[in-house]
Amino acid sequence: MAIVGRPNVGKSTLVNAIVGARISITSKKPQTTRFRLLGIATSDEAQIILVDTPGFQTVHRSRLNERMNRAVRDGLAGVDTIVVVMEAGKVDAGDREVIALLPMGTPAIAALNKVDRLRDKARLLPNMAQIASLHDFAAIVPISAEKGSGLDALLVEITRLLPEGDPLYAQDDLTDRDERFLAAEFIREKIFRAFGDEIPYATMVAIDSFGTERGLRRIHASVYVDKASQRAILLGEGGARMKAIGSAARQDMEQLFGGKVFLEIWVRVKSGWADDERMLNRIGY
Ligand code: GDP
Ligand code: MG
Repeated sequence: MAIVGRPNVGKSTLVNAIVGARISITSKKPQTTRFRLLGIATSDEAQIILVDTPGFQTVHRSRLNERMNRAVRDGLAGVDTIVVVMEAGKVDAGDREVIALLPMGTPAIAALNKVDRLRDKARLLPNMAQIASLHDFAAIVPISAEKGSGLDALLVEITRLLPEGDPLYAQDDLTDRDERFLAAEFIREKIFRAFGDEIPYATMVAIDSFGTERGLRRIHASVYVDKASQRAILLGEGGARMKAIGSAARQDMEQLFGGKVFLEIWVRVKSGWADDERMLNRIGY
């Protein structure tokens, strides 16, 4: 099942809410999600496999963004169900673009997220009617991925559309991505949350080494930036900002991995990385 929608509507928050763990990073900034990632939620009756995708990018043109858009299209192909996430109370041009991409013949559910923010609940009914007129959705469900409301109703609709079959993943698998990937993403999330627009989009995180000895994970990571000035901002006075970012990322890792983590982060300048094919390949974009 694929989760799609324009940037920032809460796709990754929804994946985490359904999986019940923070596996996909989220922030207030659009284009936080750069990679396709599976979330896996297994109950007694069903296994839901969710494909989280980057939002469809229209603003910046770079090789990185071309790859992200490809990930959206690939995410839509070959899934049995699609959940389109929109913000409750409005339909904007980006939502229409996403709806237009929906393949014929694949059942789709509209999840109207962030209902907690909608002050005038009376707007919900006309909003749902408008959405129903745009596409033949199997269901339209108002939810709050952050507060957890409406999720049971959404899960009922999703489960109804799942094909019969044996589970593809083990009962306790939460994602198809490994700890190395998740570690890099947690670091990137903290950077996206801590800085204004100029820094996050100029950064990329690579894991240089990842080892485990007696339950302790030792992780060495590099954060690449475009310019020396960005490096200075990231580090902060005496390296204080980077230290705070490392510490917050480490706590997330310890919670998800269930063990102690030693984390060391270097900030390196590598100009033009977002258009450097070799660099993008190395990171797995
Ligand atoms: P994505 O780009 O679609 O993956 O969006 P994210 O999951 O990264 O979420 C974007 C922002 O919306 C984050 O700041 C989330 O905390 C916020 N958000 C997500 N779901 C909800 C919700 O149900 N209610 C509110 N108020 N905010 C939400
Ligand atoms: Mg996302």
